[in-house]
Amino acid sequence: MATPAVSGVEVKIVNSNKGKGLFACQEFKKGDVIFEEVPLVSSQFLWNEFYKYHACEFCLKSLETAEKMAQRLASIPTLTLPQSQNCLVRPEFQVHCPHCQVTYCSKECQEMAWNQYHRTLCMGPSRGDESHPLGILQAAWRNIHFPPESCSIMLLTKMIAMVKQANDPAAVLKTFSQFTNSTVNEEQQIMHKLLGSKFRAQLETLRSLVMQTLYDEQIPQWFTSEGFQSLFALIGRNGQGIGTSSISVWCQNCDAMDLPDDERASLDDFIDQLYIDLEKESGTFLNCEGSGLYSMQSCCNHSCVPNAEVQFPHNCHKLQVVALENIAPGEEICVSYLDGCMLERSRHSRQKHLRDNYLFNCMCSKCQAQAGNPDVTSSEEEDEEDMEAEGT
Ligand SMILES: [Zn+2]
Ligand SMILES: [Zn+2]
Ligand SMILES: [Zn+2]
Repeated sequence: MATPAVSGVEVKIVNSNKGKGLFACQEFKKGDVIFEEVPLVSSQFLWNEFYKYHACEFCLKSLETAEKMAQRLASIPTLTLPQSQNCLVRPEFQVHCPHCQVTYCSKECQEMAWNQYHRTLCMGPSRGDESHPLGILQAAWRNIHFPPESCSIMLLTKMIAMVKQANDPAAVLKTFSQFTNSTVNEEQQIMHKLLGSKFRAQLETLRSLVMQTLYDEQIPQWFTSEGFQSLFALIGRNGQGIGTSSISVWCQNCDAMDLPDDERASLDDFIDQLYIDLEKESGTFLNCEGSGLYSMQSCCNHSCVPNAEVQFPHNCHKLQVVALENIAPGEEICVSYLDGCMLERSRHSRQKHLRDNYLFNCMCSKCQAQAGNPDVTSSEEEDEEDMEAEGT
């Protein structure tokens, strides 16, 4: 078992059903950061980028100032934000790849991207050109996988490029092998969920496009039909959603300010109105969204009564797992794979969603306590389930 890169937690086998889990080796108080982690690989979603969400190609930091981002998302070009010092985005440090002009938040990110994968994936001046093989691949992906997005083909291309560019390809392959693998049957369920009922043909289309551009004789096993499906299932199953926003960092910093009561009240009113304007125009699509593979976080099991949650407080792909309650040494650290609304649904609905999307039967304390409840859902829930079933 891999030793975790941080102290305070350890990865252990829970039982043969659940596989591994993450456990506390020390006490954590409610609100404590249990650990912080950067992903092995991450990528912004292709539709998100297409819709002009502007993020660092390497770390997914939102590149617009909070004010610019608010103007765009609220469609109010004249909007100004007070307390502009609370926005930490620094456009003067942003750099472009000299070949393809893709943007990075800093020189450091540009260098890391170039050294890890971008030397292979840089499209040069033909970036955005849909006749370039990688452009064809991206367009094909967008046409297969519509918003709300849950996965990105670019994670897969970056993984291949990382092996190609590595001094020690075996070491890179080993780090990717730590993620939960799936049986062929599970892989097909994941594919069906991600790509719909025609997933076999679509997977072949994607495979041949990836092969044309990135085939590497060091990893022939990733390019066979079976191997490509496994790789895809790996990112589908282990990919953690990432959301970054300059506005939310600005907002956090506003909240933390020590202000006289009247100034506090007017700032709070301004922020409330801002979120109303943003949601009216952009719905819940407020973040630069993407996904990434995280070694430690991927060991956290799900619970319908989680004692921790994943946050992205730094406006980039560095995540934090934060305690939602006091946690004693020896306790398992669990997060919820369900969003807030879904967590409040009946046991039947929660379990169906977890089975369909994450391929397991939840045995958490809440599900066990509700095990005697009849398997009925409200009519509203049933309607939604019918729609989900038809949509796949
Ligand atoms: Zn960056
Ligand atoms: Zn480039
Ligand atoms: Zn549960």
